[in-house]
Amino acid sequence: MPAGWGALLGPLALLAGVALVVGWILGGTGWWLSAALALYLALTLRRLHVLDRVLSGIERAPNRPERGFWHTIFARVEGLRAKSRSRKQKLHRLMREVRESTHALTDAGIILNAEREIVWFNPAATRLLGLDPAVDLGNRIENLLRHPDFISYVMKPGETGVVIPSPVTHHAWLHVQVIPYGMNQKLAIVRDVTRETRLETTRRDFVANASHELRSPVTVISGYLEALSEDDRLPENWKAPIGEMQRQAERMMQILRDLIELARLEASDERAPRNPVDVPALLELIRRAYVGGKGPQVTLQLHTDVWLKGREAELHSIFQNLVENAVRFTPAAGTVTMHWRETGSGAEFEVIDTGIGIAEEQIPRITERFYRVDPGRSRATGGTGLGLAIVKHALQRHEGQLAISSREGEGSTFTCRFPVSRVTQRESVATSA
Ligand code: ADP
Repeated sequence: MPAGWGALLGPLALLAGVALVVGWILGGTGWWLSAALALYLALTLRRLHVLDRVLSGIERAPNRPERGFWHTIFARVEGLRAKSRSRKQKLHRLMREVRESTHALTDAGIILNAEREIVWFNPAATRLLGLDPAVDLGNRIENLLRHPDFISYVMKPGETGVVIPSPVTHHAWLHVQVIPYGMNQKLAIVRDVTRETRLETTRRDFVANASHELRSPVTVISGYLEALSEDDRLPENWKAPIGEMQRQAERMMQILRDLIELARLEASDERAPRNPVDVPALLELIRRAYVGGKGPQVTLQLHTDVWLKGREAELHSIFQNLVENAVRFTPAAGTVTMHWRETGSGAEFEVIDTGIGIAEEQIPRITERFYRVDPGRSRATGGTGLGLAIVKHALQRHEGQLAISSREGEGSTFTCRFPVSRVTQRESVATSA
């Protein structure tokens, strides 16, 4: 029995006993017993009334309640209230700290519910995005940030986030990342990346301008070297150095061409145009260029005749770079096979070679600019170290993805996957053309 229950029932027993004795002496035991119970009930109801007021917070527990059952109950209530008070204080302190720290953040934080409606945001969100607490709470984020890149990102948030122009400051750029948490809620973190974006643009412009500027002198040097090499009066001992100079000038020219191409691809964030491109014909053209060459045998397997919607020059550059790499890194006795096929999610171009392969830890790095597993070998075979970077960017502009799998000493497979929105039937293009 809980503590104090004896004390609760004791007075009841006592009152009932007294009523019984008085009833026995004076008669009318039932009446006396009823009167005693009514008195007990009245006292209990009064205590319950006080308890109700105490629990509702209208009054404090009586300072000196009588001993026994009610004393225990009121002491417990007081204990619970004290605990809850201290918990509340702790919570308040924590809330204040969270509020102060989120107010101090330079990055904007916005909490969205499952419907992408704004539930909360910090003052940085007002500064960076112009959100107004009086108007924008409860509004859908895509109604306030209307940039198409942001809208497609927020519908399907990825890990890397998206960079969009600032809706409030001219020439400012913001990086937005949406992190899902809890029950379908999302936290959007917005960071001002204007400085990084400007630096990146400056770097890109510098590379593009420098490459353009260097092209003319290299062209002149190449021209003179060619004229010299063809001159019959050239002393015999000059022929080899002039030949080497010519090869190096051609290499320099190739690097400049690749740098200019890469800068052009990087500079344009836009998607590639959607011109119909006859992929089977393009691949056949690439295959034919290797017929009778010194390298490995190059074959083409067309499993479909679908075309792509894109920019022909860029698609050619993607396919050509991958096939050229496969040929350069595969011994003459090996094979290079191109596949063009439809998949459940679009179409894919695959190049499988039986060449030297790439170590697993190198694979994530080979699409970086100028990254080569073996720089000596790459240069010796005419590589610039920019081919795969060009492939990656050109593919991105076609909403495609590059997958690489390889085993050292056994060969590599490079796969370009294009989404169904970029695939078009040969017939439909032919009739509409
Ligand atoms: P490079 O001009 O050096 O070929 P890329 O960007 O095209 O530059 O390729 C980067 C590096 O990736 C290459 O130097 C090479 O080490 C590796 N690589 C690319 N394709 C293949 C392949 N098919 N087999 C083996 N290694 C490859």
